[in-house]
Amino acid sequence: FRRIELKETSKDELVEMGAAFNDMITLLESNHARQEQFVSNASHELKTPLTIIESYASLLKRRGLDRPELFMESVEAIHSEAIRMKEMTEQLLLLARNQDQWQVEMEQVDLAALSESSARAFRDAYNRTVEVEADGEVLGWTDSRRLKQLLFILLDNARKYSDEHIVIQVGRKPSEVYIRVIDRGIGIAKEELEHVFDRFYRVDEARTRRGGGAGLGLSLAKDIAEAISAELELDSLPGVGTTATIRLQESK
Ligand code: ADP
Repeated sequence: FRRIELKETSKDELVEMGAAFNDMITLLESNHARQEQFVSNASHELKTPLTIIESYASLLKRRGLDRPELFMESVEAIHSEAIRMKEMTEQLLLLARNQDQWQVEMEQVDLAALSESSARAFRDAYNRTVEVEADGEVLGWTDSRRLKQLLFILLDNARKYSDEHIVIQVGRKPSEVYIRVIDRGIGIAKEELEHVFDRFYRVDEARTRRGGGAGLGLSLAKDIAEAISAELELDSLPGVGTTATIRLQESK
């Protein structure tokens, strides 16, 4: 904070200073409240998969040896929750760090190959069908690690808010290349669409809590998109489904 020199102070200046001081307090208080909310949401996020891992591990301990079908089910659940926790921890670390401290390494990236490997990892983790449709070789100028994180957030949402298979489309337009994540799930109402990128915003507490989300995914997705020079857009119709589009600069 800047120190204020007090010499010949007029009454108006005192009133102004008082107002500035109050603004400062409000700012500090709201930052503090946000931090508290962040920590509590982050803990809640991590606690859900941990509880699932704990209960499956204890089931394995008690009954794993004499019930083979239970064994596989438990191992799969533990595996997918561990992957989820790993992704979440990565996301929380990104959120905790200042955006301009994120390391971004731009390079030429084969978007179809990247989508295929993300889809494979996702299928392995969640047992959900993810189809990749690619329009030949599509090369983008971006950071592959960050793009994968962004894609993972979108796939995770498609998984949480739809039951059918998920489609990834990779293609090009005259001035750009794109990746779309398409689901045929519950969709988002028009008036909610403008808020879903806000930190901690959830369309419906009840339905989101079931999936364990904290309303951080899309706000982080937007930040990642910005950091890797991409644009992120959501189109959605309630009851029909959602399409998330990542637009990138083509690399030639
Ligand atoms: P969360 O981690 O709670 O899912 P997000 O920031 O990723 O938070 O998403 C914000 C809100 O947008 C969620 O509460 C969810 O209701 C809605 N949403 C996001 N993606 C989808 C989707 N593919 N289909 C339907 N609703 C979605």
